[in-house]
Amino acid sequence: MNASPSNTLERWLTGPRVGTLPTPSSLPAPKLSFEFFPPKNEKLEADLWTCIRRLEPLAPRFVSVTYGAGGSTRSRTHDTVARLAKETSLTPAAHLTCVGATREEVDEVAQAYWEAGVRHIVALRGDPPAGAATYEPHPGGYAQAEDLVRGLRRIGDFDISVGAYPEVHPAALSADADLDFLKRKIDAGASRAVTQYFFDTDIYLRFLDRCHAAGITAPIVPGIMPVSNFASLKRFSAMCGASVPDWLGRLFEGLDEDVDTRRLVAATVAAEQVRILQANGVDEFHFYTLNRPDLTYAIAHILGARPAVAAG
Ligand SMILES: Cc1cc2nc3c(=O)[nH]c(=O)nc-3n(C[C@H](O)[C@H](O)[C@H](O)COP(=O)(O)OP(=O)(O)OC[C@H]3O[C@@H](n4cnc5c(N)ncnc54)[C@H](O)[C@@H]3O)c2cc1C
Repeated sequence: MNASPSNTLERWLTGPRVGTLPTPSSLPAPKLSFEFFPPKNEKLEADLWTCIRRLEPLAPRFVSVTYGAGGSTRSRTHDTVARLAKETSLTPAAHLTCVGATREEVDEVAQAYWEAGVRHIVALRGDPPAGAATYEPHPGGYAQAEDLVRGLRRIGDFDISVGAYPEVHPAALSADADLDFLKRKIDAGASRAVTQYFFDTDIYLRFLDRCHAAGITAPIVPGIMPVSNFASLKRFSAMCGASVPDWLGRLFEGLDEDVDTRRLVAATVAAEQVRILQANGVDEFHFYTLNRPDLTYAIAHILGARPAVAAG
C-alpha cells in the first residue's frame, strides 16, 4: 500500500507541525549590546556616528568597539571609545588584544581606559598579524586571553567580556580543550562571554548545554550577525571558523545585484534566528552591526526593544 499523501491537502495535513513562537509582549525586554569597528576616514566616521545615534535610544547594556589585528587601530579604537564615554549616554566597552605588544604596553592602554572612565573591556587574544600563519605570543606579552583577563583584574575592577566559539575555535586541539579555555577565562574574572556568530540555532543551544555541563554559570551571549553581503560573509567565515549553512546560501541565491531584496531576506533570517533563541529562553543578544544601524534596529525591535523614553 502506498502511504504517501494522495492529494495536496492530505500532504499539508500530514506534515510535521510547528508551534507558533511567543510574541515579544509575553517576554521580558531583551538585554542588548552592539559592536562597532573604528572608522578609517572622515566619511566612515560620520557613518559610524549616524549609526550610534540611531541605536542609542534602544539603551543597550553596552556598546563595544573592536581592536584591529595586531593593534593596528589602537588610537582609533581609543578615540571612538573615549568619544562614546564623553558624548553619549552609552556604556562603552573597548576590545583589547594580546597581539604585537608587551604586557606593559597592553597595561598602559588598559590604564588609559580606566582613567578615561571606561570600565568594560572585551579581552581577546587576537588573530595572527597579516602574513603570519599561526599565532605566536609576543615575547614579554600576554600569551592568551586568560592571561589578559588576569592582567586587567590587577589594573582595575573592570567588567570583562571574553570570546566563545559555539563551533570550536579553529586553533583548538579539541572541542573539550576549547571549552576548558573558555571556563578558565571566566574563572580568571570575566563576567560573560560573547560568541562568534553562528546561523544554526541548534549549534548554539547545544553549546550552552556543554558550557553548563562544564560548570560555567556566566552568560554566553549569542553574537548575532545580520547578513547583508553574502559573498563577503563567505570569505570572512572561512577565516574565523563559522559555518555558513547551505540553506543560507540558497536564500541569497541570485540576489548579488539586488541589494533591496537581500536586505529583506537578511532581516527575515536574523529575526527568525533571534525569535527562536528568545523562545528558548535567551534574553541577551550581542549584535555585530558592521556600523550599519537599520538591520540591527529592526531585529532589536522584533525582539521587543523599544526606544527608552526620557524621564520628565
Ligand atoms: C566576540 C568577539 C570579538 C572579537 N573581537 C576582536 C577584535 O576586536 N580584534 C581582534 O583582533 N580579534 C577579535 N576577535 C577574534 C579573536 O581575537 C580570535 O578569535 C582569536 O584567534 C582568539 O581570541 P580569544 O580571545 O578567543 O583567544 P583565547 O581564548 O586565548 O584562545 C582561543 C582558543 O585557542 C586555543 N588556545 C589558546 N591558547 C592555547 C594554548 N596555549 N594551547 C592550546 N590551545 C590554545 C583554545 O582552543 C582557545 O579556546 C573577536 C572574537 C570574538 C568571539
